[in-house]
Amino acid sequence: MANSQKPIYLDYASTTPVNPQVVEAMLPFYFDVFGNVSSTHTWGQKARQAVVDSRAKIAGYLNCSPSEIVFTSGGTESCNLAIRGVTEAVELLNQKGEKGHIVVSKIEHHAVLEPARELEEKGWEVSYVGVDEQGVVDIEDFRSELREDTIFVSVMYANNEVGSIQPIKELAEICRERGIVFHTDACQAVGFLELDVEELGVDLMTINAGKIYGPKGVGALYVRDGVDIAPQIVGGGQENEMRGGTENVAGIVGFARALELVRSEKEVEAKRLSGMRDKLGEMILEKIEGSVLNGPSVDSGKRLPNNLNISFEDVEGESLLLRLDMEGIAVSSGSACTSNDLEPSHVLKAMGVSDERTYSSLRLTFGKLVTEDDLPSILDRLSGVVRDLRGITAF
Ligand SMILES: *Cc1c(COP(=O)(O)O)cnc(C)c1O
Repeated sequence: MANSQKPIYLDYASTTPVNPQVVEAMLPFYFDVFGNVSSTHTWGQKARQAVVDSRAKIAGYLNCSPSEIVFTSGGTESCNLAIRGVTEAVELLNQKGEKGHIVVSKIEHHAVLEPARELEEKGWEVSYVGVDEQGVVDIEDFRSELREDTIFVSVMYANNEVGSIQPIKELAEICRERGIVFHTDACQAVGFLELDVEELGVDLMTINAGKIYGPKGVGALYVRDGVDIAPQIVGGGQENEMRGGTENVAGIVGFARALELVRSEKEVEAKRLSGMRDKLGEMILEKIEGSVLNGPSVDSGKRLPNNLNISFEDVEGESLLLRLDMEGIAVSSGSACTSNDLEPSHVLKAMGVSDERTYSSLRLTFGKLVTEDDLPSILDRLSGVVRDLRGITAF
């Protein structure tokens, strides 16, 4: 079916296009300044300086020291490094090889849930703290999961499926009082929320570039000075012995530039995006029968400004996604990373949403290239597709 309608990308929580200004900053590091950071010659020194500058810039946004930043290949590696790094360091310290207890939330990204599952197989005890119907961790529930032998906690800053913002500051404070290392996966928060690690009180924080108009495949882990983590990739001792491998210089430069750009426009952009999100959400819920919002209400202050997650009664989210794609609109059903299998979203499940409603859910996430003028057309195409699919299932 040929379609001449304007393509509209509504999947910014999966990844973003790269800002041309970011590409511009990166280009010299593919051609002129292509040296290896570890090399002593001028080529190497220039590359090294670029990494030093980028690290300092990123540290500035996090209000930490540059030496507390470890560059990685992205959010997944940073989360893996946090959870495996801390637990392995404890194992190494512990003569008897005794394992301990960790707590993660039920709505974490698979980059945290998978390493947690592996730790369980290795003999660690893992508690999964639940969330309320809005997808937010309850502070008292959280407190009750902590034990004498809890050594590590990971709770994401904002959820990638329903955009729910977690009370990170409160949770981190509880952990600090008990000497528990606290990690937060901030991949979805970088463009919108407070990133000051002193203000937040976190010990470890994962960020990446591919969600903020920077290059994919580059990220960082903030590691508070004094927090002991065992490196998970060893080799040439790069990144202060925390992560071996030749530095992705262009990627790191692009990451720093992307962060700079996204932070400079964050208030204005958050307002623009939430304005469009609220408007489209309202139109959908009003015009499309049997549609219901998943996650925090849009005016609760507990939802990322760019996230909409809606279920459409009697329609399969996956079919909706495919049909919308044919109509030139990109969305996601649940988490993009799990779209290949048809397991119902673990996030909606944890929120107590029924399987039926979960299977019929769609995530629309807004970003830079979406404009107010697109909204009527999005609604139009979406209602058409929902109507068509309901027509089919009615027989
Ligand atoms: C995207 C994302 C990740 C994974 O990041 P990659 O850079 O793709 O490895 C982890 N956690 C959250 C919350 C994310 O949104």
